[in-house]
Amino acid sequence: MKTEPTHQLWLDKDDRYVWHSMKPYNPQATLIADQAKGCWVVDAAGRQYLDAMAGLWCVNVGYGREELAEAAYEQLKTLAYFPLTQSHLPAIQLGEKLSELLGDEYVIFFSNSGSEANETAFKIARQYHQQRGEPHRYKIVSRYRAYHGNSMGALAATGQAQRKYKYEPLAPGFIHVPPPDRYRDPDTADDPRQLRAVKAVDDVMTWELSETIAAMIMEPIITGGGVLMPPDGYMKAVKEVCEKHGALLIVDEVICGFGRTGKPFGFMHEEVKPDIITMAKGITSAYLPLAATAVRKEIYEAFKGTDEYDYFRHVNTFGGHPAACAVALKNIEIMETERLFDRSREAGEWLLSALKTKLADHPYVGDVRGRGLLVGIELVVDRATKEPLDVSLVNQVISQCKAHGVIIGKNGTTVAGYNNVLTLSPPLCISDDELSLLVRVLTEALAAIQ
Ligand code: PLP
Repeated sequence: MKTEPTHQLWLDKDDRYVWHSMKPYNPQATLIADQAKGCWVVDAAGRQYLDAMAGLWCVNVGYGREELAEAAYEQLKTLAYFPLTQSHLPAIQLGEKLSELLGDEYVIFFSNSGSEANETAFKIARQYHQQRGEPHRYKIVSRYRAYHGNSMGALAATGQAQRKYKYEPLAPGFIHVPPPDRYRDPDTADDPRQLRAVKAVDDVMTWELSETIAAMIMEPIITGGGVLMPPDGYMKAVKEVCEKHGALLIVDEVICGFGRTGKPFGFMHEEVKPDIITMAKGITSAYLPLAATAVRKEIYEAFKGTDEYDYFRHVNTFGGHPAACAVALKNIEIMETERLFDRSREAGEWLLSALKTKLADHPYVGDVRGRGLLVGIELVVDRATKEPLDVSLVNQVISQCKAHGVIIGKNGTTVAGYNNVLTLSPPLCISDDELSLLVRVLTEALAAIQ
């Protein structure tokens, strides 16, 4: 076991040399991870934590899988690199496997991160319309509260003002619509096309002029923005609205993909065939950086013209790196062999029901919601008014869990007015005992703020 003075030394060096993402300055609160196995992370002081966030919603098969390290090692020995301006075997095999998982023929453009996958999707959507003789279609519609990435286009698509306001102006041509929020704005309709959040998309596309809309981007469930569950039929109805206006539907599966919601992809809970699907995180369970933009065959075909500007003028050096593709293939094999998509569904149902039961009488717990191993707990001052709980109390719950060896998350300081949702997104291999531990520590932490 490492000693505390050594740990303090690492904390001091970390403060000097490492700039952290998305974190207010507080060097003492930093967890310096040293090693990890399964759902457990050990820090530089030797303390163990159950990581109920799977890193940043991404280590889906859990830590310490030697098969994944071996897949990377073997691939690096065989072919360390080759660009996808040409091709290589792991990319071809992974493209075929992703198409199979998606349940239809998609052509895959590889990149390195969720942000890049979404930027790629926006460029494909805009150029696709140009190729078909509709050059005025450039606008991308997205939803408030959603996060789509850190680069200037993906951040412009993001609907979280607090992430954006120090970096304006971002890329132009991005428009936002309200997301459905079943807790704060319950809305039921026999015909999902009559849902307010669906009509909002229809109205905005009309007011902005249909002929200028290139695409709509949406996550199946808004994740980082507060685990906002859509009403049944919402995505299918939005797809119909997109079709009516001639716009493409891009589904951002960066978090929801690869089993997080209990199916291979989040869109599979509805009968929808997205035009473009973006993915990252769980594709390699974060063992190596990789992302993908899957495009319906017909859209890809539009790029096969003979004009010198017809092809997709987009490249990234590391996108579809052979080692990352090899790891992704092995990662998907593990998910299939161990039936982790089913495990996510079953474990998620248990977790949701255990939390709902235990927290039923807690005055600050307004809503417990989720699907698969993706859960949000919305905290409020008063259940009747639904006024969001102060972020300092939300942070207290997170710190208390950490003090008892459990890492949970929240929807950050990024959603104006609503920084009040605790989030859970553990590795899909989490055991029953680990789930029980998570529920116990979390309910005790919530009891402490009562
Ligand atoms: N899309 C969603 C839904 C995300 O949650 C994220 C990251 O958290 C991204 C895109 C961007 O992914 P990356 O951080 O890999 O660029």
